[in-house]
Amino acid sequence: MTDIIAAAALGSEITPERRILTAIPGPKSIALQARRAAVVPVGVSSALPVYVERAHGAIVVDVDGNQFIDLGSGIGVMTIGHTNEAVIEAATAQLGRVTHAMFTITGYESYVRVAELLSEHTPGDFPKKTVLLNSGAEAVENAVKIARKYTGRTGVAVLDHAYHGRTNLTMAMTFKAMPYKLGFGPFASEVHHAPNSYPFRDGLSGKDAAARTITYLEKSVGASDLACVVAEPIQGEGGFVVPAEGYLAALQEWCTANGVVFIADEIQSGMARTGAWYASEHFGVVPDVILTAKGIAGGLPIAAVTGRSEIMDASHPGGLGGTFAGNPVAAEAAIAVFAEIESRGLLAEGARIEGILKPALHALALKYPIIGDVRGIGAMLAIELVQPGGIEPNAAAVSAITAYAAQNGVLLLSAGTLGNVIRFLPSLAITEEQLRDALTVLDDAFASL
Ligand SMILES: *Cc1c(COP(=O)(O)O)cnc(C)c1O
Repeated sequence: MTDIIAAAALGSEITPERRILTAIPGPKSIALQARRAAVVPVGVSSALPVYVERAHGAIVVDVDGNQFIDLGSGIGVMTIGHTNEAVIEAATAQLGRVTHAMFTITGYESYVRVAELLSEHTPGDFPKKTVLLNSGAEAVENAVKIARKYTGRTGVAVLDHAYHGRTNLTMAMTFKAMPYKLGFGPFASEVHHAPNSYPFRDGLSGKDAAARTITYLEKSVGASDLACVVAEPIQGEGGFVVPAEGYLAALQEWCTANGVVFIADEIQSGMARTGAWYASEHFGVVPDVILTAKGIAGGLPIAAVTGRSEIMDASHPGGLGGTFAGNPVAAEAAIAVFAEIESRGLLAEGARIEGILKPALHALALKYPIIGDVRGIGAMLAIELVQPGGIEPNAAAVSAITAYAAQNGVLLLSAGTLGNVIRFLPSLAITEEQLRDALTVLDDAFASL
């Protein structure tokens, strides 16, 4: 087993810098792309036809030996860094003890421990319970299932620009048709899309945006038919949309007054991504139910629905579960992630990264008027690109800039319903040098337009 750990830890020998040796993609990646095309459907797209061999911290190395500064972290999954030693050690040790038991047949401690940790670290000072699942979409599905059982109501409300997943129910809950929904219906019923708060585009105060959302819910849906409102405190795929001040609190207050379960989808914004355990904390909201996935286990697949005990206990025995759900290897990895964030004080890293990145992005916005907005919190930041002087979306510039960055060794992700947002989701392990180096590439990318 020590050999396995040693092999996995090879990642730690990666030099901490950008290094481009070949054209991007290089010859080995091109060969793999050709093999892929023969056996993997085109529906599974690739943002960059580069094949990864190993990674450590904020550096990803491809099969041709090129090293990239990773500003996407596999969409916010590798929050504590690639190949974190504590995660490797915990997961590897568990592999050799028991790999699968199926928690609903015979239990194991790590599942219980992850639930305890989530009770402790999610907002709200009340008894909570947690069910573990495999993916974010599955967590969303289960939260809705539980809210319906608890309230005896069927309606589900989501916000415009939301992203909640790719299963049938979560496709219905997701806003953007292309590429997530087009031609994949019919979708689950009883899902209602309410207007959100998008300060850059709607110019509304939190109070006015909340009034607009609530009017929609009351007039078009009817509160007494509504089981839950599901909201991302900072919208992820929708473009890192940060709601105006007071918006979420007003929405939650309305939910509470009307017996509607307020569910925060923190699959992207949770687990120290924004410098708090959960982004809800920045907005003073305490969700009834909160969803965790992406960053929770250092890349291993596990997801969680955590909520008030009386809500979570609404399901009859046997109503919740899944074969691989709460897998012991992934659960041990999650415990290690909690311990790393706690013992290394990683919550402070969100503010450190924001302190470097945000002023630099504002400076770029002064230099390049196509940057219409700079927003986000902690290590979840974005710029929205527009036509100069207005708010007309500029998706073409996003494509050009992410392509330029990739050619020069920086992995950058796009986002947004309009495709005109560049999001920054660096690992909390990224160094100031790496960030500043990536920013020079970004500056060059804008200059090259
Ligand atoms: C990624 C994501 C999901 C879906 O998670 P999967 O693990 O891909 O199913 C749901 N909600 C939000 C906010 C996400 O970012």
